[in-house]
Amino acid sequence: MSTPDLFDNMSPALPLSTTQRVAELHRVLHHHAHRYYVLDAPEIPDAEYDHLFQELQVIEAAHPELVTPDSPTQRVGGRPLDGLASVRHAVPMLSIETETDTTETGAQKFDARVRKELKLQDEDAPIEYAAELKFDGLAINLRYEQGVLVQAATRGDGETGEDVTQNIRTIGQIPLRLLGVQVPVLEIRGEVYMRRDDFNALNDKQRQRGDKTFINPRNTAAGAIRQLDPAIVAQRPLSFFAYGLGEVDGWLLPPTHSAMLDAFEAMGVPVCADRAAVSGAQGLLEFHQAMGAKRDALPFDIDGVVYKVNSLALQQQLGFKTREPRWAVAHKYPAQEQLTTVLAIDVQVGRTGKLTPVAKLAPVFVGGVTVTNATLHNEDEARRKDVRVGDAVIVRRAGDVIPEIVGVVLTQSARPEPVEGLRQAQPEREKERGSIFTMPHTCPVCGSAAVREEGEADYRCTGGLFCSAQRKEAILHFAHRRAVEVEGLGDKLVEQLVDAGIVKTLPDLYRLGFTALAALERMADKSAQNILDALEKSKQTTLPRFIFGLGIRHVGEATAKALASHFGKLDAIMGETPETAASVEQLLEVADVGPIVAESIHTFFQQPHNREVVEQLRACGLQWAEGEPAQRAQLPLAGQTFVITGTLPTLSRDQAKDLLEAAGAKVAGSVSKKTHYLVAGAEPGSKLDKAKELDIAVLDEAALMAMLATFEGDKS
Ligand SMILES: [Zn+2]
Repeated sequence: MSTPDLFDNMSPALPLSTTQRVAELHRVLHHHAHRYYVLDAPEIPDAEYDHLFQELQVIEAAHPELVTPDSPTQRVGGRPLDGLASVRHAVPMLSIETETDTTETGAQKFDARVRKELKLQDEDAPIEYAAELKFDGLAINLRYEQGVLVQAATRGDGETGEDVTQNIRTIGQIPLRLLGVQVPVLEIRGEVYMRRDDFNALNDKQRQRGDKTFINPRNTAAGAIRQLDPAIVAQRPLSFFAYGLGEVDGWLLPPTHSAMLDAFEAMGVPVCADRAAVSGAQGLLEFHQAMGAKRDALPFDIDGVVYKVNSLALQQQLGFKTREPRWAVAHKYPAQEQLTTVLAIDVQVGRTGKLTPVAKLAPVFVGGVTVTNATLHNEDEARRKDVRVGDAVIVRRAGDVIPEIVGVVLTQSARPEPVEGLRQAQPEREKERGSIFTMPHTCPVCGSAAVREEGEADYRCTGGLFCSAQRKEAILHFAHRRAVEVEGLGDKLVEQLVDAGIVKTLPDLYRLGFTALAALERMADKSAQNILDALEKSKQTTLPRFIFGLGIRHVGEATAKALASHFGKLDAIMGETPETAASVEQLLEVADVGPIVAESIHTFFQQPHNREVVEQLRACGLQWAEGEPAQRAQLPLAGQTFVITGTLPTLSRDQAKDLLEAAGAKVAGSVSKKTHYLVAGAEPGSKLDKAKELDIAVLDEAALMAMLATFEGDKS
């Protein structure tokens, strides 16, 4: 144990400092147990709690007279919530001793203890162990009578738990009736947990709704199970693994723990596949290492592995010491949550212009890697967590998930032994903290305006054409075949051109020379010439393609076409100066342009950098036919909405879309009450069913062509 200093100055007449320390540890541990178990709002990482708990255990081991009935070491878990009925466990739910030596010696120590207890000599055969994962969730006792689930209870203090039968019944994985077993009583114990992907999906949903996110899968699972409303529990994606036995009546016990888990599995109870029967300390070591290597790839969190003497007869022989079985131990892995300090909050700009606040952290080893950054997602999340520069925070990294800040540690006074440096880093009073984080209103990369639209969580840079963070996206979008098509200019080439610094903004594309292109890796002379030809060809474009190619947020192809036909000329939209650009009101007159889109277009052309790029493109020779503003309402299919589905015999979907839009129709992606016609080809799928259901006219290609031909006739 790592607290020798406690004993160095100890006299036989127990120093006052030790009793004071015990009292302090009681107070602090009770406080954190309440935060953790009852409120589901921990203030310190588990490892910190364990550390304090062990310190108390060490003192109590040396001074049994200091052990009181209310010592935190005298109960196993949290107390029942007021709202849930109490359940007395027929067989106490004990906890397992934890080996916190995360190195190999942890396994060796356990094997040595067991062998000594069984009075085995070195020459005796190795002991067989059942090795399994230590799941990070909530322990549950499932009571089956005559094979039917009659009660489910939490561990509680080990003697008395909470009745959570209604909640447990909402978990689909837990059988309400066992397969092929109808004995008077069989209690199966295991862990309710939440998979990481389920947890992340749940938090994404919370974020989208602007609700508070959950801390980690374990707390979320534990919180859900102890909900008073089973309807809420049913919305939480929970899972279960069995690993132990409670009361039994009428069931013949298998000879080993492994065989018992096999039997549970045959009864339809989920049992984790990552388990093994292994031989001796060497087998335990190998399992610990193998699962340690696999930990990140597992779909759920574990904080260690568990070793159990496999023979149930030997388990009985070994028995218990106070409240822990001698035949089992939990062997931990390095913690996935740690304390550290926020050094700064930076704002990063993504490929699509999204601004993300990122906390720069004092380096901390967590979940097997050194972490120096943690995302704060967006302004709301940063505010909700109220993370500020200088704060002490709990950082969590589990699996290959990006590190995340779980919360800020404010209650310094509750910690008798702060992590080194923490007292300086973590001012006690609110007024001494750094200032509340606010998102910048300009892009930290290019200086263009950063805008947060109504109903959106993210700020975005509006300098899409110029911003170096968005270069690759902007070029790819511009070169797309539905925009200013540049054939052959794909992902990899754009990547190369930008990374080599040859292309910084769009006009640079048109300044590319043969030598620069041909010098790129894996670029043959012929392909270099093809790209130059494609660029030359792309100079003859159309106004809708050009507008679409600018990548203005919310301006898709249809909107680009509507803008082109409404205004006729690019200058009518962007103006000769920012002041003479189309106003939001003018933009709102365009069919299908709403307030958010109008605002987005207006802001785009207010950015000097964007305007410069457009001017340079024109100077590079890009041109298109311009006309007078068209009266969209005069087109024959104006106001009609079409949906295209399935494979048409001769036309591609894009071609059909072009024909329809040229006639003034709107082409939508899904069938709704607003749809006027469905154009259906082979294998039309659910859209055809939906159209029939809504009584919408269905056309095949021939009927579509016939309809369009009548307009041709009208014109001539
Ligand atoms: Zn920018």
